Amino acid sequence: MTDGTAHIHDHEHCIDTAIARARELCGAREVKLTPIREKVLEIVWRSHKPVGAYDVLDQLARTHKAARPPTVYRALDFLMAEGLIHKIESLNAYLGCGEAGHMHESQFLICRACGTAEEIVDDALDAALDAATKRSGFTVERKVVEIAGVCARCQTL
Ligand SMILES: [Zn+2]
Ligand SMILES: [Zn+2]
Ligand SMILES: [Zn+2]
Repeated sequence: MTDGTAHIHDHEHCIDTAIARARELCGAREVKLTPIREKVLEIVWRSHKPVGAYDVLDQLARTHKAARPPTVYRALDFLMAEGLIHKIESLNAYLGCGEAGHMHESQFLICRACGTAEEIVDDALDAALDAATKRSGFTVERKVVEIAGVCARCQTL
């Protein structure tokens, strides 16, 4: 979501689109989107709020009783490696990626009031970061911008 309407939209559509895209990408890449991995992806996509690994496990255990933390971490690692979800380090939580399949650097607007995180993909911001780190002679290993604040909707409540 990039239009600030994260709360008032057909979220089923977001989930369906994300799952369909994941199947398509994994098929094209010849990697296996196993039922567990797909279920974990669906759980992460249940809302636009980043979800922690243990919350994922709680929900997964409802349908997959044998699921354990390593099951969840392996699935999350796979989904991250395929660019289907992102990790929000400041929250130690995961968020579905709406731009899966496109190379992009991530910037997130994280609302402390409602807990949603909105991914913005801004090439100009990314280029500015590249220039700034280059000037400092810094070798970048991870480049994720996490901005904390209050979203447009929460400001009007
Ligand atoms: Zn949605
Ligand atoms: Zn993304
Ligand atoms: Zn909010």
